[in-house]
Amino acid sequence: MSIAPPVLLLVEDEPAQREILLYNLEAEGYTVITADNGEDAALLIEEEVPDLIVLDWMLPRLSGIELCRRIKARAATRDIPVIMLSARGEESDRVRGLETGADDYVTKPYSRPEFLARIRALLRRTRPTAVGGELAYDDIVLCGETHRVRRGDQDLRLGPTEFRLLATFLERPGRVFSRDQLLDRVWGRDIYVDTRTVDVHVGRLRKALCVYGGEDPIRTVRGAGYALG
Ligand code: CA
Repeated sequence: MSIAPPVLLLVEDEPAQREILLYNLEAEGYTVITADNGEDAALLIEEEVPDLIVLDWMLPRLSGIELCRRIKARAATRDIPVIMLSARGEESDRVRGLETGADDYVTKPYSRPEFLARIRALLRRTRPTAVGGELAYDDIVLCGETHRVRRGDQDLRLGPTEFRLLATFLERPGRVFSRDQLLDRVWGRDIYVDTRTVDVHVGRLRKALCVYGGEDPIRTVRGAGYALG
């Protein structure tokens, strides 16, 4: 996969359910971190904001409902899509689930293809290039499905790292990414790479984007990192 896979946080206390979900989500190519109670999940979210949260309704220590409420109350985590899982299917629960701010709600037993389709639909909002979508900024267009990048009428040739870098920037135009954040998102969190490597690849990306002319869209933010636009 040439774009860093979305990171999903799976919060489910029943081991068998958790294993099945983990298996299905990893089979889709997602990076999955798991928690079996609400408090641990809250700590994991503090450490690293996931791209999506699959959240069981009834959890020990801190319930899924309460955790969802907290996630949606904080500016730093509000935009993370949350899918709530529930064993109960009463309409009143569904309404309560959505009232907590959950983005979607799935009743167990759920249909696997439908569940995965709903995850893709939510990820299209937060990680469009990772699920085959197209992203554009000014005259630059990146297609997650064909892995092509165009600027105006020209096809651009980007190395795999520059492609992932551009996808990361395009998913959040204007956001300043620190070198460490770029390392996590583009190279992966388990790989040791010197932060200066980021500068080298940003340089290559700039060169590739401007090879047929046009302004350099990437901004260096002194002491902070890089941003698109
Ligand atoms: Ca449960």
